[in-house]
Amino acid sequence: MFTFGFMKTKLLFFFWTTLAACGYAQNAKLEIKPLTKDFYIFTTYQRFGQTLFPSNGMYVVSNEGVIMIDAPWDTTQFQPLLDSIAARHHQKVVLAIATHSHEDRSAGLEFLKAQGAKTFTSCRTDSLSRARHEKRAEFVFSQDTSFRVGNHVFETYFAGEGHTSDNIVVWFGKEKILYGGCLIKSTEATNLGNLADANVKAWPQTISNLQKRYRKPKYIVTGHQDWRSTKSLEHTRRLLEQKSKSHAHQ
Ligand SMILES: [Zn+2]
Repeated sequence: MFTFGFMKTKLLFFFWTTLAACGYAQNAKLEIKPLTKDFYIFTTYQRFGQTLFPSNGMYVVSNEGVIMIDAPWDTTQFQPLLDSIAARHHQKVVLAIATHSHEDRSAGLEFLKAQGAKTFTSCRTDSLSRARHEKRAEFVFSQDTSFRVGNHVFETYFAGEGHTSDNIVVWFGKEKILYGGCLIKSTEATNLGNLADANVKAWPQTISNLQKRYRKPKYIVTGHQDWRSTKSLEHTRRLLEQKSKSHAHQ
């Protein structure tokens, strides 16, 4: 268990309640929406073919600093996101994790380190990032690891290969929040997305491993598109079944 002690900062409940009521919509480039107390989903966009495609990350406000899971895909939004966190919560990001090596997750690692955050990925992610000259974390973990930051505890879990060979999820047990990243497809997704580094054979078992380990999550945060449904694990499995059927028919 990693425990980080930082100067205690008072949570400004005033900010939380006022801004939560506004839904946190800011501008088209960066959206921040409250998930539940202390948990916020941020969304940025990149052009994908003809359209702008959304990418989600999450931050969690603890009483000893902010935890960030993945970073904005749109790198111009790193600073606006940190500014927004500072204005709303009077806190800094103290710990950041990227859930796999692709840039929609990892692009902010070195920026966040420069801002004083302790940055982490798994060893597997780090070797891929090193090989591909992607941004790397300062610290690595070689197995599933629990972290504590102030009043929040969470664990990382490698359930198996899927979207990539290194994709991990993050689980906040007390709140039953499963941060799935790109391993879990939004119920809005009509296909499996970028399969360049995927293992579609292993992916269904990986989903089963998640379902076995994390019973009845209250929220499941997907890497892209709408994250408000808790049916996204089943939906990912359906998309995988469709894919294997379409292969069988070819
Ligand atoms: Zn992704």
